[in-house]
Amino acid sequence: MVADPSKVADASKAHLETSKAHLELLEALGHAVPRTLDIPRARRIFVNRNLRMDEIDVIGFDMDYTLALYHQRNLEALSIQCTLDKLVSKRGYPEEIRKLDFDPAFAVRGLVVDRRFGNIFKADRYGHVGRVYHGREPMSRDDRHRLYRLERIRLSSPRYAWIDTLFALPEAVMYAAIVDWSEKRSGGRPVRYGKVWQDIRECIDEAHRDESMKRIIKANLADYIVRDPELAPTLHKFRSSGKKTFLLTNSAWDYTDAVMNHLLGAALPAYPNWRSYFDITICAGQKPAFFTDKNPFLEIDASGAVKGQHSGPFSRNRIYQGGNIGEFESFAGVRGDRVLYIGDHIYGDMLRAKKSSVWRTAMVLQELESELTAVEENKEKLERVEQLERQTVRLDSEISYQQMLLKSLQKLAEAGGTQANDPAHEPLAHAGATVEAAKHEAKRRLDELRGAMKSAAEELSHLDKEVDRAFNPFWGAIFREGTENSRFGEQVEDYACVYTGRVSNFLAYSPLRYFRSPRDHMPHELV
Ligand code: IMP
Ligand code: MG
Repeated sequence: MVADPSKVADASKAHLETSKAHLELLEALGHAVPRTLDIPRARRIFVNRNLRMDEIDVIGFDMDYTLALYHQRNLEALSIQCTLDKLVSKRGYPEEIRKLDFDPAFAVRGLVVDRRFGNIFKADRYGHVGRVYHGREPMSRDDRHRLYRLERIRLSSPRYAWIDTLFALPEAVMYAAIVDWSEKRSGGRPVRYGKVWQDIRECIDEAHRDESMKRIIKANLADYIVRDPELAPTLHKFRSSGKKTFLLTNSAWDYTDAVMNHLLGAALPAYPNWRSYFDITICAGQKPAFFTDKNPFLEIDASGAVKGQHSGPFSRNRIYQGGNIGEFESFAGVRGDRVLYIGDHIYGDMLRAKKSSVWRTAMVLQELESELTAVEENKEKLERVEQLERQTVRLDSEISYQQMLLKSLQKLAEAGGTQANDPAHEPLAHAGATVEAAKHEAKRRLDELRGAMKSAAEELSHLDKEVDRAFNPFWGAIFREGTENSRFGEQVEDYACVYTGRVSNFLAYSPLRYFRSPRDHMPHELV
């Protein structure tokens, strides 16, 4: 049968129109359903261990630095201000310390304070000490070796304090400045570095616990806390896919209520208030003790007054305080491996949860966006660094080959030399000339390779410094130290199943997504 050409034309026109409409629909949806590769790197979720979201029933959220990202500079200035007030009024420090230069760039997450010697350093994944500052002065290579490389250091000892949350950055900034100031003032007498640390630590701790900081934050929420318009839709998306949600924060009730209201109050018409985004609300959770101890759950009222101890299934419209993971799982009726907890504190939220339970973990790293921007902006330099690193490995191996070759030629020449005067070995005299020429060539090649190595090393060191400055002028990238992962980077890899810059980055992914980790290789598996 022959097709009617006009009908064919009509059909194909109709088909074209349908597919155009189809394409338009897809394009419109494309904004709501992006492919992973369309998501800017800074907004992606990165995977250390496979995580199947369809196997997660309950998602828990920490509040501070997880749901609530802070305007870091403002919060740091406030922490420093409140801590200085206490140092001056309660610890006898003079007013002049208020005028010191507290440069916020001086601290990043993952630094270690050596309270015995007044130093701050960054360690790599093996605990090797990399960059060190004494006060704000970079420490010389020799001093660093003498203090930290002659014996294995135990970073878990009380001599060291770890700057492991963004709340703690001002402590490092203040310690460096006050150590410098104390030395200038001491006129050569020894400075009690440990005491300076303890004073700062106790004063900042008190500033968090009494109302000094929180009163000001609550009165000026917009100055301190980022209101992310995509947060409410993200929580809504999780809930619409059938997941239960809970809030588990260390903050006290009145602060939690104020901050959460700022974040989610009146965000979506379907949710009358911030509490309606969560099935269970727990404040003053005392992590890491929540994961390790057996504190009871208390029920409190909206004024924060304790109503009594709680036991049994949780109720949506009640507020709980304290508690522990064992009772949580039993009262919530959930299996640990079906819980995903999203937090920002490597110790209190990630490490403790992983060591004491089978909860899955997602870590929010507020710094990730700027780190990834720095990676993007320095892409060519970073590629060149990698190229140079590969080149130095090749050059190293070629140099040792040429050195061995030269040694063998040397031996051959010596053997030839002892026999060259013997007329019976006349052909060796000829061979001797060839060996000499080969030796000459090997030496020339070795000089050439050493020259190439020297210039590669110089370029590498120059580029390393430039790239480091682009991340942080004092400490470089937070996830790397030298050619290794930093200790902090390593801990993120070990304890966070996935990590990302902010909770709302989940909005671009399906709530049933299978987050797959890139296959890891041991060196012998690489081709
Ligand atoms: P989360 O991250 O929501 O669990 O809450 C962290 C809480 O710990 C916030 O209320 C902070 O103010 C508080 N916090 C942070 N650092 C310190 C400290 O050094 N001492 C006491 N409380 C702190
Ligand atoms: Mg937190």
